[in-house]
This record gives sequence, structure tokens and C-alpha cells, in this order.
Amino acid sequence: MKKEENKMEELVSLCKRRGFIYQGSEIYGGLAGTWDYGHLGVALKNNIRALWWKRFVSDREDMYGVDASILMNQNVWKASGHVGGFSDPLVECKKCKKRFRADHLEDKKKCPECGGELGDEKQFNMMFKTHVGATEDETSISYLRPETAQGMFVNFKNVMDSFHPKLPFGLAQIGKAFRNEIAPRDFTFRSREFEQMEIEYFVRPTDWKEKFEHFRSQVLEFTKDVGLTQSKIHEHEIDPKDLAHYSKRTIDFEFDFPFGEKKELYGLAYRTDFDLSAHSAASGVDLAYFDEANKERFVPHCIEPSFGLDRTVLAVLSDAYSEDEMSGEGEKRVFMKFSPRVAPIKVAVFPLLKNKPNLVEKAREVFLNLKKVHGAGIMFDDNGNIGKRYRRQDEIGTPFCITVDFETVEKGTGVTVRDRDSGKQERIMIEELIPFLNGKMMI
Ligand code: ATP
Repeated sequence: MKKEENKMEELVSLCKRRGFIYQGSEIYGGLAGTWDYGHLGVALKNNIRALWWKRFVSDREDMYGVDASILMNQNVWKASGHVGGFSDPLVECKKCKKRFRADHLEDKKKCPECGGELGDEKQFNMMFKTHVGATEDETSISYLRPETAQGMFVNFKNVMDSFHPKLPFGLAQIGKAFRNEIAPRDFTFRSREFEQMEIEYFVRPTDWKEKFEHFRSQVLEFTKDVGLTQSKIHEHEIDPKDLAHYSKRTIDFEFDFPFGEKKELYGLAYRTDFDLSAHSAASGVDLAYFDEANKERFVPHCIEPSFGLDRTVLAVLSDAYSEDEMSGEGEKRVFMKFSPRVAPIKVAVFPLLKNKPNLVEKAREVFLNLKKVHGAGIMFDDNGNIGKRYRRQDEIGTPFCITVDFETVEKGTGVTVRDRDSGKQERIMIEELIPFLNGKMMI
């Protein structure tokens, strides 16, 4: 446990030092539960986001993308049940005034910080409330959306009218969600602002079990896409008595994060016709589906796989964090064992020496040619000795380092390609580089 806690501290510090993730508003002392992504964090997140969109939207014929507004009419949140019930149990210490989530405490009477007495449990609504326009009254209330899901239910009719899809079909959305978490913690795991990747998949009521199983396996396939260690993923069937008000069946997919026991990474829920029926009733707009073949109207049922993008980034970061002593290269090294598919930098190109113009010129040529094909994932580095450059690339998880040396320019025998995990180098002819890397990157 101690070791894992240390690992978390080292990961947080590496993320800051190397430009993956910074504390939000840091120069003002921070804002709890907010995080800013730096250049490498953005690249990692974008790669994960793209793999998700590919698997769940582009590679399929039954999915429609949506990008809905974060601010929505307050009636959306009344109909969905969020205004009345999107709350966590809150307790406050009578002595130090700190607030805690009651369901996260072992002893609900005693403050875990100062030992003082805790007050009575209250329900705390987690939606961030705001007012839209210049008037601050009941009619102008809105909320920052606490989930992306409702943006899809309220666009169900629009998508039906534009594309006339036949059941089963789904809507997919990636976007920000906001929750005023009582106790944000564990790095980005529990943030107040985060991104979700969600699907609302509409089915005939009789088909829900089959499609639930389909998405159950698709969720696991996605964890393979991003390279997560499969033995760290666990399914947790939610006890019927603990199900959310809209759900008839839910499985949480948990991951062995380094800060304690396994924790929720994703959820998969059978939401019945709860949402479409609730929005039909509240808006007065008919959200039924007309089945031409059987000439019947009904409200489709819905399967919802829900993914946290930031939680995926955190799982990938913590899973990738590795240390070893590389034989032949001396001291302990820290390296991020990212799958090449998600690695923010896929290839770094070096001239062996910075002050040899013929080496630099050739290395620039190799770099620019690779960049034409692989874009942002290719980096040029000529700073410091070669050992230091390898260390720096290991620390940000670059799978391959290419070095242009004297043999490259004098004998035309190609470049060396070093593998991050084994440290082994092999010589590859320059014209073979692109097929070689394509094969290794499993794209
Ligand atoms: P938890 O039990 O951890 O509070 P939840 O069950 O409320 O999560 P859902 O409402 O099912 O979460 O949200 C779907 C997904 O959104 C979660 O599986 C998670 O990946 C992500 N998520 C939810 N809350 C947060 C948060 N505060 N910070 C980061 N990601 C979150």
C-alpha cells in the first residue's frame, strides 16, 4: 500500500514536470477538483478520445454523433430526476467545519481529520447552478450539465428526423460534465470538471439483454484498445437494491488504481424507456418510434455505456508508470509503458551529435519525412548527450527513438531504432522506417 501511495505521488509529480497534467489555477493556490492538461496530456487524451470514437462511431453503421450544449433548459434536469435527486450524503464536522461524503466514511460520527463530532447527514445536490441572461430569478436558472447523457435524449427526435435510423441505433457524445463533488480527491479521479464519453443505444424492449451483452464485451475491447492491463479490470454487478432510479441493471467496470482498492472506471446501464418517456411527458413532444414493418408505435429502451475520459487517462498513466534498472545503461530509470497507440510522442528522432551539420541535416530529413505521415506524434531532439535524451523520452513514454549516426551518413547503413521497454537497438534502412513503424504501432 505504501509503495502504491509513493507511486501515486511520483506519478503526480512526473505529470507536472513533464507537461501532462497541472493543478488548475495553480499560481493562485489552485481550485480544488480542477486540472489543466499540458501539451503531452492533451496528446494522450486526444489519442484515447480518437480510439473511442473510432470503435464506437466511425467503425460502425448504427451510431450518430452529437455535440450538445453544456447549458440546457432547467426542465431537462427536472424531468431527468437530477434537480430532485442528484445528490450525495453530506456531513459536516462541528469542530473544524470540514465536509465529507457520509458514504465514504467508516465512522459516521467522528471527523477523520480532527476527531471532532460530525453533524447530521444532509443531501447535497451536486449540480453547479447558474443563471442565464441578465435576470436572476427562478425562470433563468440553469445548470452546468452533470452528465452528457441528457444532451442525447433531448436530441433523439432531431436525429430521427434527420437520419431516419432503424432500431437498434445509438447516439454518441464526448464532452465536459460538471459535478460539485463534496470531496474531490485522488488526482483527477474525482474532479469537479471532467469529460465523459457516452452512448445511448436504443433498442426494442425485447432486445435489451442481447445488446447489453454486446456492449459489455465492447467496453472490455476498448480497455484493450488503450492498452490497459486486463487483470486490473473487474466487473461489479450492482445489487438490484442499490440501482439508480432509472436503471434495471448496471455493471460497473472497476480498475486497480494505485490509491486503494479497485474503483469505478466505467458504467454500463440498462435505462429502460425511463428517459425518453420522462422527456415526452415533461415536454409534451412525442418521443416514440414508429416501426413501419409491424405498424406499431413504442418508446425504445436504452442501453448506456458510460466512460470517463479523464479516468481513462488516469488509468492509462498509472498503469504505464514503470521503473527498472536497464542493463548496460546504468542507473534506475522511470519509464511510461504506454501502448504505441496512445503514446503522446510515438517516435523521437536524434542526430548522434548536435555539432555535426551532416548528422543534423540527415536527422531533420528523417524527422520531416516521418512527420508528414505521422504528424504530431514525431519529435526532434538534439539536446544533451544521447543517454539523457533516451531517459527523457522514456519518462514521457515514447516507444521508439531513432538515431542518425556516422554510419548512417558515411556508409548508408540506415539508422538505429531503440525500443523503449527492452532498450534494444536495431539498424533499419531509412526507406524501411515507415512500414517498420506502422507494423509496430498497430494502427
Ligand atoms: P462515482 O461512483 O465514482 O461517483 P458515478 O457512478 O457517479 O461515479 P456515473 O454517473 O456513472 O459515475 O458517470 C459515468 C462515468 O463518468 C464514471 O464511470 C466515471 O468514469 C466518470 N466520472 C463520474 N464522476 C466523475 C468525477 N467526479 N471525476 C472524473 N470522472 C468522473
